[in-house]
Amino acid sequence: MELKDIKGLGPKKIELLEKLNIKTISDLVFYAPNYYEDRKKEYALSELEDSANALIKVRITQGGVFIPIKGMKAIKFRASDGVGAIDIVYYNQVWMKKNLKVGSWYYFFGKVKIFRGQISMANPIYSSTKSGELGEIVPVYPLTKDLSNKVLRNFINEAIKEYKPVDLLPIDLIDRYKLPSLKDILRLVHQPDSIDEGKKAIKIMSYIEAFLIQVASHKGIHLKKKYDGKVIKDNLIEREFLATLPFRLTGGQKSAIVEIKQDLESDEAMNRLLQGDVGSGKTVVGQYAAIKSVAAGYQVAFMAPTAILAEQNYKKIDQVANKFHMKVKLLTSSVTSAERAEIINELLNGNIDIIVGTHSLLNEEIKFKALGLVIIDEQHRFGVKQRAELIEKEEGVNLLVMSATPIPRSLALILYGEMDISEIRELPEGRQKIDTFAMSKHQFQTVNEFVEKELKKGRQAYYVCPLIEESEKMDLTSATELYKRLIPVFPDFNIAIVTGRTPEDEKNNIMSEFYNGSIDILVSTTVIEVGIDVPNASTMVIVNAERFGLSQLHQLRGRVGRGKYKSYCLLVCDDMSDDTFTRIKTMERSNDGFEIASEDLRLRGPGEFLGLKQSGRARLRFLKFDEDMDIIIKAKKDYDEWIKNANTDEVKVLEDNTKDFLGEFEIGVLN
Ligand code: ADP
Ligand code: MG
Repeated sequence: MELKDIKGLGPKKIELLEKLNIKTISDLVFYAPNYYEDRKKEYALSELEDSANALIKVRITQGGVFIPIKGMKAIKFRASDGVGAIDIVYYNQVWMKKNLKVGSWYYFFGKVKIFRGQISMANPIYSSTKSGELGEIVPVYPLTKDLSNKVLRNFINEAIKEYKPVDLLPIDLIDRYKLPSLKDILRLVHQPDSIDEGKKAIKIMSYIEAFLIQVASHKGIHLKKKYDGKVIKDNLIEREFLATLPFRLTGGQKSAIVEIKQDLESDEAMNRLLQGDVGSGKTVVGQYAAIKSVAAGYQVAFMAPTAILAEQNYKKIDQVANKFHMKVKLLTSSVTSAERAEIINELLNGNIDIIVGTHSLLNEEIKFKALGLVIIDEQHRFGVKQRAELIEKEEGVNLLVMSATPIPRSLALILYGEMDISEIRELPEGRQKIDTFAMSKHQFQTVNEFVEKELKKGRQAYYVCPLIEESEKMDLTSATELYKRLIPVFPDFNIAIVTGRTPEDEKNNIMSEFYNGSIDILVSTTVIEVGIDVPNASTMVIVNAERFGLSQLHQLRGRVGRGKYKSYCLLVCDDMSDDTFTRIKTMERSNDGFEIASEDLRLRGPGEFLGLKQSGRARLRFLKFDEDMDIIIKAKKDYDEWIKNANTDEVKVLEDNTKDFLGEFEIGVLN
């Protein structure tokens, strides 16, 4: 069945539904009401409360007087339930004069107003019998202009008559919780007999969604929470490492270190996520774990999402490890095959203590003598699958993943539910706030002048553009276009460009030239998003900033303000609609990644935040991340139990159903 097969649903209405992201019958039947209205329970006038919606039954006692109110045609009736009296007023509905007869009884449903003891109702729904829109529990849906709740509701009710949904949950769970069939759940959502019944049905739908998120994100993998791990004993070198740090640790760093120490020294494997804003100092915490492990006789693998980041991490840890005579090597695709062979050999015989690289470290041919710890930097680029592979490959290995994309607790639980979490909430002392300004594209000259001033002081700058797909409108600026535009603007400075298409070697060259200061302006797509550390860069310009999620803007902004210089972030927006403005203003106001992530989640919804694909179609309709923590926890637990014993066919069926219901789902890739 398609939308157009529903009675009364013509092309015009189909267009309206599309505005609500309703494109299929399934979208329609799973359209979630915002709330329910009880148009069933009758109230005596004496029971009415100001501002509440209520159903009353009254007799018209005086009829249809026109009253002048601010250019509107208002018509007023007086009515009574035998005890009290009420004014019923209709604005701009002159025909009501004929519709309501003095002496007759009617039902009215509307919003009650009580002012100085006088009760009134404006533009109530009415009927002489308790039927149709009256006398029911009415779900109230999110609407769009020109589509009334009544009309939408009719379409939904038509659709669920014919709709034959496939149950989405595993049968074990349906049995355990004695859940109604999905068809019945839909009926309860859209046609409940009481508000409670409707709300309960919505909770069941939320649970189903929470469960399906688990299905979609775990891809049939069972991530164990606890398993035996290698014990990394307390040692003197880790103490020396901490004692000789060039700065005092922040509170968050200290507690993270204590937690990691306990994890490593216990005989359960560490499985920990370290969350902290860009610049909060996660590296030193990771280094501590690495130094401790090597000192206790183990090897460490340090994985970064890109070669560039791997190289930066390599340099940092190499400096530190040298002090303790530990051997560190970098393994990326630019290593020659001879070097590679030697590294593989040295990992196997235990000569190399710490290996830094990309996920290529997971390759079959790479084997360790005694791998004790794996550190993954910028975790959100790695999927669940890679994490699971790693744990499989190296039995009992301790795992520390570090993420600079802080996320609210509800999400952390969904994404990393099997992990323990450490959070670094504060930045090291003396860090300056990055001043952030939302600008319009018409102010682009001002932006460039600002950048020029900074460059003249000897600073460097980034210009970042969103990735543009071929199919998209051309009013978006591509990195290449911008690069060409900027060359004549900055004749005295060196500009370079890096995009996803730039060959790896060239990219590395450009990055190191930017790093050593011979390039002043780096134009790029979001490839520089993670982890790049150039302390002399003081200005981040983001073009088409409205195209990015807040968390991503925050990530990008974190590329500046990494040195001693006052730093700036200029967010250049193309479309300054109210929504955009509110969103971008959050960036001006806050420098706290945790706060920004919560706001991002609130404004864009979990679907966008999690990277639900097929935009417009794939949606979580019922689950509310801020209210439904208990449901998320329960679904997570049930999923973990279920997947342990589920057979492949069962998983496959569920995954297919999930894909139909949620759309393509890629978790762990935030955008
Ligand atoms: P991130 O969490 O983004 O990985 P880094 O670990 O790169 O942050 O730290 C950012 C900068 O702050 C580094 O130059 C680091 O040396 C410095 N740093 C880390 N911890 C402290 C601290 N407690 N006090 C002062 N500076 C610190
Ligand atoms: Mg880092």
